[in-house]
Amino acid sequence: MINIQRYKRRLLDLEKKLDERTSRDLEAGRGELLDTPHDAGDASVADVAVDAEFTEAELNSTILQQVQDALRRIDAGSFGKCLVDGGPIEPKRLNAVPWTPYCLKHQTLLEAAGRERNWTL
Ligand SMILES: [Zn+2]
Repeated sequence: MINIQRYKRRLLDLEKKLDERTSRDLEAGRGELLDTPHDAGDASVADVAVDAEFTEAELNSTILQQVQDALRRIDAGSFGKCLVDGGPIEPKRLNAVPWTPYCLKHQTLLEAAGRERNWTL
């Protein structure tokens, strides 16, 4: 059983930070480093690595989008379930990347099937 309220607080917090940062970046035309939350779980599981070709502003707004999607899934009651098969997302993974919509298996499959750009370490 996962503690949805805890994730919701973290996601709302992140949304706020990313939102501020993204607007600031748009004004400044230049981003800052994204500090991925490492307060819980295993930092080495963190899925998001800064791609050299990605500007930080782009990364911020991409993650902001995913954070907002995750908040919508909390409201819809489907948070913590993989978008592909509805199976549970690994708690360790949720701790490291609370906005992730996929379990590890499908994330890996999607990456292998899809983009060349590598998001995982
Ligand atoms: Zn899955």
